[in-house]
Formats: sequence, C-alpha cells, structure tokens
Amino acid sequence: MVANEILFSVAKEYMPGGVNSPVRAFKSVETAPIVVKKGFGAYIEDVEGNRYVDFLMSWGPLILGHAHPRVIEDVEKAIKNGLSFGITNPYEIEIAKEVVSALSSADKVRFVNSGTEAVMSAIRLARGVTGRKYIVKFDGCYHGHYDSVLVNAGSGVATFAIPGTPGIPEEIANLTFVLPYNDNNALKELFEKRGEDIACVIVEPVAGNMGVVLPKKGFLKTLRKLTKKYGAILIFDEVITGFRLAYGGAQEYFGIWADLTILGKVIGGGMPVGAYAGGNTLMEKVAPEGRIYQAGTLSGNPVAMASGLATLRVLKKTNPYKELERRTLYLTEEISKLLTAKGISHTVNRIGSMFTVFFTEGEVKNYNDAKRSDLKLFAKFFKKLLKNGVLIPPSQFEAWFLSTAHDDNVLTEALERIEKGIKEL
Ligand SMILES: *Cc1c(COP(=O)(O)O)cnc(C)c1O
Repeated sequence: MVANEILFSVAKEYMPGGVNSPVRAFKSVETAPIVVKKGFGAYIEDVEGNRYVDFLMSWGPLILGHAHPRVIEDVEKAIKNGLSFGITNPYEIEIAKEVVSALSSADKVRFVNSGTEAVMSAIRLARGVTGRKYIVKFDGCYHGHYDSVLVNAGSGVATFAIPGTPGIPEEIANLTFVLPYNDNNALKELFEKRGEDIACVIVEPVAGNMGVVLPKKGFLKTLRKLTKKYGAILIFDEVITGFRLAYGGAQEYFGIWADLTILGKVIGGGMPVGAYAGGNTLMEKVAPEGRIYQAGTLSGNPVAMASGLATLRVLKKTNPYKELERRTLYLTEEISKLLTAKGISHTVNRIGSMFTVFFTEGEVKNYNDAKRSDLKLFAKFFKKLLKNGVLIPPSQFEAWFLSTAHDDNVLTEALERIEKGIKEL
C-alpha cells in the first residue's frame, strides 16, 4: 500500500468513513481518496509528494489560491496576538464594514462559523420576523446540513417534502416546500395557494450544488416580485457566489437584491467563517438589538476574520473578476473541444470562475436535468484526471473553481494533463 492508502485506512478506523465531511471519501467516484499535505497557488500535494492542479479549491473559498502570501501574512500577525478573546476585536469591525459596503442590500452583518450556521440563523430570523412557519427551497440546492433545508423534493409541485436523511422529524420536514429550480409557474402556484404562510424563500442565485446551474432569465426577478407581494423574506444563499461572481456577489452580477444574504467560503479565505447580512429593519431584530437569539463562542474569531479581511482586500484592490472569467471561459472551451474530439456528449454550465462539465446532452436547467448525467463516465473521467495530476470535485453535482493563481501557464499544464486523461478514457 502507498502512503495515501495507509493513512486513509487509519482514518477510517477513527472517523466515520475516514472523513469529517462525506464527499471527501470519494465514494461516488469509486476511487481511493488522497490525503493532502499542502497547497500552494493552484496546486496541492498529497502525502506521497504527488502534485495536482487543483480545481476543487477547498470547494470554493480559495479564490486567491492556496497559501496566498498576503492572507498568510495577515493571519500570522493575528495569531501572534492570541487565538480567541470572546470579546469584540478590530478585525470583525473592519470586515463588517467591508461586507456592508459590498452589498447594497445590507446595513448590518452577523458573523458565524459556517455557511450552515448562517442559514440556520437567517431562517430563524425570517420566521421570527414574519411569525410564519413555512419555508421554500429548490430541488438540488444545498444550504448546509440544517434540518429544515436538508430535505428532498417530494414528487410534483408544492407537495410536502420528505426527509432527505433519517434523523429529521417529519414535523420539521413538512414545514419545507421544495420546488424545481427555474420553474416560475410552480413558484406562482405555490404562492397563490400558501403565500401568506411562507416565512422565506431560500435560493442559490446561481446553483452550485447540483453542479453549476444558472438562473434562467426572469427566475430571480419572479422570486423577488412574489416574495415582496406576499411579505415573505427572500434569502439569497451566496455562500459560493458571494465575492466570487463579483465583489457584490450574484446580487451585483444580476442587479437583484435579496432581503437577507448568506455568506461563507470566500469570506473566510480558507478559515471557518459564515455570515448573514441584511437591511436594518431585519438585522435590528437580532439579539442583543432585538429578541431573535443567536450566539457563538468563536464567532468573529480574530484569526478567521483576519484571513477573510485580507482576502476581501486583495479582491477589492485587484478586481480580478474579468480576468478570472476570461481564463475560465478559455479553459471550458478547450475541455469541451477535447471531449467533442473523443466523441463524448457533454454540456458545460459556466458563469464567472465556476463551472461544471455535465456528461449529458442538452440544457441543464434544474436538478432533474443534472441527474441525467452519465455518472459512471464521470467517475472514470475523475479517476483519469486524478491519475494525471488534476484534482476536480469528486462528484458530478459540484462546481469546479478557478482562482487567481490559475494563470495561463497553469491552464496550459492542466489542459495537457486533461487531454491525456481524456485520451485514456
Ligand atoms: C457550502 C455551502 C453551504 C454550507 O456551508 P458550510 O460552511 O459547509 O456549512 C451553504 N450553502 C451553499 C450554497 C454552499 O455552497
């Protein structure tokens, strides 16, 4: 056995599946997982010293690449002053100012430790403010592992959801309506029937967790209109898109503003950070200003805040979004050419620096479309790429990410390796 396998077999003895988050076990791609020793720029290295061009990028946070010098420097500075105070520190104040200035839908922000925690808190706020119980989510969207949002779609429109995992009581799952993504009619129908009972609609303004699926023209607008009309809170889960599609996230990109915004991933620059933000009328209801309780021993942690703040400052100063988009477009076009040359049918969904190569023909506009993908072929593709030194997300239903460290040289190297992998298919 090689080092990766030896270590992972020990991991399996002491942690469920050997991991602390399920997809890391590489189960759906039927591959032995690697164990990562370090990352630098666009690359990671496993414990055997194998180097991979990384398009997973820790599932999205690392928009500046691994171990960006400015981020590391600021984190080192922060660490020297202590790891946690449990009392307000200057980094929190600076990054709060930055978030509020980036989002014209936000006057205030509350920091937490993960996207999941931010979603949970925002839904509580929406329910508390509206006095309503029901929430709406979309099939294939992921909002963390909080009970209310971890439910499958029931068949058909506006049917009650069933729990997606044992351990979620029916009574909780029944408070969540699940609709197909990009389906304006289903949305209208549900609101006409139950609009007055709905506390909030939570949506990924660009879906990243069924693979990348873009909102069709009019979808987000319809959401905005209906929630306003019926007095429901519109929550944009921008854990992936925030500070990635644009500095002001999907809201700036599409010019549609939510009532509450969920942030995570990029905002921590690789450290565990989540946040929810919104206008004063909502955020003033959060304790201690208001009565809706939410707290955290390590929330606003100085080291995590320093990492996030350094990341945001570099993004603001360098404004890399156009260049990231150009490089991503180039990469996806080249991958598409290689697959076509091999006679493999596929669809690439891309926006900004995030994309998914679906092994299916035709438009992918919702989870049902995404599920038509050839998962066996994806697993083979993943394996060949890994073997040739390219790491992509170990699931068809995830997004690939570029960072600013993925320059033209890296992309050339990556494409050579991807070409080899595809030829071996
Ligand atoms: C990753 C993700 C979450 C959950 O964030 P965690 O930090 O993993 O809890 C929530 N929403 C979206 C859209 C995500 O991509």
